[in-house]
Amino acid sequence: MHTHDQTTNVTYLDGPGGSPLEPSAAQMRRMAAAVSERLVRFAEGLPAAPAMNLDDVQRLITRVREPAPEQGSELDGLLDVVMEGAARGIETAGPGFLAYVPGGGIYTAAVADFLACGINRYVSLWSQAPVLAAMEWTSVRWLCDLFGYPGAARGVLTSGGSMSTLGAIVAARCACLPANFLSGVLYVSDQAHACVAKAASIAGFPRENVRVIPTDDRFRMDVGELRKAIRGDLARGRRPFCVVGTAGTTNTGAIDPLSELAAVARSHEMWFHVDAAYGGFFQLTERGRTKLTGIGAADSVTVDPHKGLFLPYGTGALLVRDGSRLQAAFHTSGDYLQDMSHAGEVPNFSDLSPELSRDFRGLRLWLAIKLHGWAAFREALDEKLDLSRTLFERLRDTDWLHIAEPNLTVVAFHCAHGRRHGHEDELTRRVLDRVNATRRVHLSSTRLRGRFAIRACVLCFRTHQDRIEEAADIIRQATRDVMATA
Ligand SMILES: *Cc1c(COP(=O)(O)O)cnc(C)c1O
Repeated sequence: MHTHDQTTNVTYLDGPGGSPLEPSAAQMRRMAAAVSERLVRFAEGLPAAPAMNLDDVQRLITRVREPAPEQGSELDGLLDVVMEGAARGIETAGPGFLAYVPGGGIYTAAVADFLACGINRYVSLWSQAPVLAAMEWTSVRWLCDLFGYPGAARGVLTSGGSMSTLGAIVAARCACLPANFLSGVLYVSDQAHACVAKAASIAGFPRENVRVIPTDDRFRMDVGELRKAIRGDLARGRRPFCVVGTAGTTNTGAIDPLSELAAVARSHEMWFHVDAAYGGFFQLTERGRTKLTGIGAADSVTVDPHKGLFLPYGTGALLVRDGSRLQAAFHTSGDYLQDMSHAGEVPNFSDLSPELSRDFRGLRLWLAIKLHGWAAFREALDEKLDLSRTLFERLRDTDWLHIAEPNLTVVAFHCAHGRRHGHEDELTRRVLDRVNATRRVHLSSTRLRGRFAIRACVLCFRTHQDRIEEAADIIRQATRDVMATA
């Protein structure tokens, strides 16, 4: 059956119900093929694609800011609009993406999501899709196993590190504080991700209940200062309830002294959370495991598969050592859910997070690990550790550049003692602008001890030796050029 729309001059193939919402078998195949062909071309084009492209953005934005159409249009034209739009901004899937915390988005996850959306299974309550819920739970359990968590551990896939951290703070609040919790104090380092303070605020804590502890010369939380702050709060009648350590800070990849933080937390019966959103999956590698010693002692861990496992944005995880404490914070019931059975071997994910209905995000993780094995991820992460070392080695004796040894895969540097002493921040900013203007790599900046610094984070699975050597050449040249005109 065909319907011809006179206004748009478009012919629809109608499916079983005679509606474009139910495409025919041929139509479904054609739609999928059109998308997969575009993804293949996209992936093939990534090495040559600009690392950043804002050309013509205003015109393209104006084109998509339109009223909702009454009639549909053809898929191919719409896919063109999407792909043209995707080519604007930062190329977050490409090998030159060294800004913020990359990941990339492996093709396998795209395939998994296509399938997951197509079958539209409801995995939040396990009895609705018992086997698929068991698959998602198993993939979360594999993450628990990485950190040596016991059988009583529970975890949940979230949209990202921020939501995982919110879950952890709420669980800690419920486990360690009375219903009136406003005397509770939470401790983070001055390098912690802003999502911790945000989570505390959403969880009901005023700003002043978040104590910011200074870091040492390598940006790790100063444990002596932490002890001092806790003693001070106890003396004032406050209730220290949670220490948040970071395993791989966003700024420099620094890892807090996790074992010592765990011991401090334990001695005060506080919750110990580790934000390993960036660094967690280095646990798969031998070098990473050594650096992350003590992470298994945490009461909860945030990891971001959309960073270290290269999955697409929207894949985070919260793991909690004593699963009953996570469930105590988030379990609810409603009359309309009375048909649902209670959690058994497989938990009800809705009992472990604020979400009820949500996507079957576990398939991304499950399919990727089953199809490739941990070995593929371990190798890729080991390569990134080597590459950040390479970048450091190639930059370390560049004139005018001050660079620190990389922590995990973050290389941070800034211009030092330029001919215009006192203008280092401005010079560093100009180096960054020049580097990014090449469009071969894209780096981001931060402030370290008040100073403007450039950071390169090597974590996209598509970044290899050739691009890192090119990045080093570009950074050296940009530094020379800026200094020549300074
Ligand atoms: C990325 C990151 C976060 C935030 O995670 P989202 O997935 O962006 O919400 C938190 N902490 C650290 C250390 C991070 O690197």
